[in-house]
Amino acid sequence: METKTNLKNLNFKELEDFVIKNNLPKFRAKQIAKWLYNKKVDSFDQMTDLSKAVREQLKEKAEITSLKLATYEISEEDGSIKFLWKLKDGHTIETVLIQERNHKTLCISTQVGCAVGCKFCFTTKDGLIRNLETPEIIDQYIEVQRFIGNTPENRISNVVYMGMGEPLANYDNVKKSVQIFTDDKMLGLSNRKITISSSGIIHQIEKMYNDPDFPQVKLAVSLNASNQKQREYLMPISQTNTIEDLMKTLDKIPFKQGFRIMLEYVLIKGVNDSEEDAHRLGKLISRNRKKYKVNLIPFNPFPGTEFQRPTEKDVLRFEKILWKYNITVIVRWSKGKDISAACGQLRKKEIENQKIMIT
Ligand code: SAH
Ligand code: SF4
Repeated sequence: METKTNLKNLNFKELEDFVIKNNLPKFRAKQIAKWLYNKKVDSFDQMTDLSKAVREQLKEKAEITSLKLATYEISEEDGSIKFLWKLKDGHTIETVLIQERNHKTLCISTQVGCAVGCKFCFTTKDGLIRNLETPEIIDQYIEVQRFIGNTPENRISNVVYMGMGEPLANYDNVKKSVQIFTDDKMLGLSNRKITISSSGIIHQIEKMYNDPDFPQVKLAVSLNASNQKQREYLMPISQTNTIEDLMKTLDKIPFKQGFRIMLEYVLIKGVNDSEEDAHRLGKLISRNRKKYKVNLIPFNPFPGTEFQRPTEKDVLRFEKILWKYNITVIVRWSKGKDISAACGQLRKKEIENQKIMIT
């Protein structure tokens, strides 16, 4: 049997090609995209402006996937919602909706697990299990939007690729998902409201910027250290992607208004949060400070970790030193602390619960 085309695997051009290949007029692509991405339906029968015959034809050739909600938790502290999805092969991934006063941001996952092996990150504990497929990436957005109501006032305007996994290690699916997110005929988000966060794989960053088909979105890079030795200790990937080479690569990316590069820095007590670290970081960035902003993230502890979260006072001291270098700094006091919003923790809870049930 011919395998069916998963429609959410297609960017708009590919959707048009699919429609033409099936002897349908080209304008059907626009109609189908409207149903999938604007109305967010999950069956062909809901596409009421297509005739029954066309719907039957599509059913034979194509499929529409969705994600199965395993569980969710709403934070009493700040209203953020953490979703755990069960994938078709039984693996689980998570998505966090962060509700700010005037906009909503969705933090999405790109892989089950992660191969990068950062010491402070729970996601990587069991290594990489697999890449997410394009539909699994965009369905996180579609399902959450359906969950909170698919209305203009509830619209999720911002997407950050900061959930589980290294987005640039799943290049093709992430690229396709960005095409679908930003296409006006599809999900129609603004390029400026999408951020891809990477651990700093230099050749993949270069590939992305040189790829004419990769819509330009914002880049965040997890720096997490102020010198090479420290970064190598925290992020093994730095052995081959040194801090100096990484900064040189980022410095070379043409500056574009509204697309400043965000440098993320997870502050870990007694490891990378000293005054000396703040000064070193300040100097490293001040050579090109207009191009960057720094995002300080106080470490979110998880069971079994050797690291600790710094005190609020220490975080503020670090921030103040960066100000002296005229650097724009934002402290990301973690959203949804009470629902364990740090990378990978809801998933862990669920796995533990299952274990408890088995034993
Ligand atoms: N793999 C990508 C994106 C996912 S991680 C990356 O590394 O950038 C998203 C952010 O969460 C990264 O900046 C990472 O440094 C941070 N992070 C990971 N574990 C954390 C923890 N336990 N506490 C606080 N931040 C953490
Ligand atoms: Fe992977 Fe990012 Fe976690 Fe590092 S911080 S292990 S790159 S998910």
